[in-house]
Amino acid sequence: SNQLMAGKRGLIMGLANDKSIAWGIAKALGDAGAELAFSYQGEALKKRVDPLAASLGSNIVLPCDVGDEASVDALFDGLQEHWDNMDFIVHAIGFSDKTELRGRYVDTSRDNFAMTMDISVYSFTSVVKRAEKMMKTGGSCLTLTYYGAERVMPHYNVMGVAKAALEASVRYLAEDLGKDNIRVNAISAGPIKTLAASGIGDFRYIMKWNEYNSPLRRNVTIQDVGNSALYLLSDLGAGVTGETHHVDAGYHVVGMKAVDAPDI
Ligand code: NAD
Repeated sequence: SNQLMAGKRGLIMGLANDKSIAWGIAKALGDAGAELAFSYQGEALKKRVDPLAASLGSNIVLPCDVGDEASVDALFDGLQEHWDNMDFIVHAIGFSDKTELRGRYVDTSRDNFAMTMDISVYSFTSVVKRAEKMMKTGGSCLTLTYYGAERVMPHYNVMGVAKAALEASVRYLAEDLGKDNIRVNAISAGPIKTLAASGIGDFRYIMKWNEYNSPLRRNVTIQDVGNSALYLLSDLGAGVTGETHHVDAGYHVVGMKAVDAPDI
């Protein structure tokens, strides 16, 4: 394996289980020699995250609910008991009420709109602000987004609006932190069967559509996303910031249904 991350340490947020995109990223970084810490949401996930972290040689596993400022502060206080500096952060967190991830966007409630924006958008800014203080010689920050930010995708609804705001925040954060050699990027992943994705209506249909119509004629894996994350988080990506990088088997360049696509 490569040692692209040797001597670098960073925090992975959003690991729920071994299907999580955060896991594909953590594995690629760990295999490349990174020193890792993990945060998890709620006690129920701790028993899943502990052994995954241990398998990559990490025993820094801390709770954090990004909806609560005190909890985010406690995470960074806890992290600083182990580390006085860090090189990267991965934010693989998103949430919306799943009853609003089907049907019409126009029916989104004010409460769920605000909550979705808070957990899925503001939380990235909130953790980047704290990570900045620990990135003393520069760093790299990464979040996860989806094509529903750019085009209307069935059922994505308020999450598409939130991802558009997240991608805009990546650009503003890149400008703010660039002077300190801190880079900020997003990966726009194609559909992958995870816990979060299971909340989206007709997700199996969306996966099939992408498989039949993307240039590579397949869906992407968490390994694909992990390897691209390795590029953005290592020095290979040193000249890249403010970018939304598509890891979607090329789906975002397609203009219509492929002529060879079977009916679904
Ligand atoms: P996942 O369910 O494995 O991960 C989502 C994570 O968000 C979980 O670990 C959950 O605990 C965490 N989370 C939710 N609310 C939180 C809160 N208040 N505080 C702390 N953590 C919280 O699913 P995933 O698909 O790996 O999702 C990771 C990211 O990738 C999300 O931003 C998602 O929108 C994005 N994404 C997913 C896909 C896909 O098809 N799966 C495609 C593109 C982008």
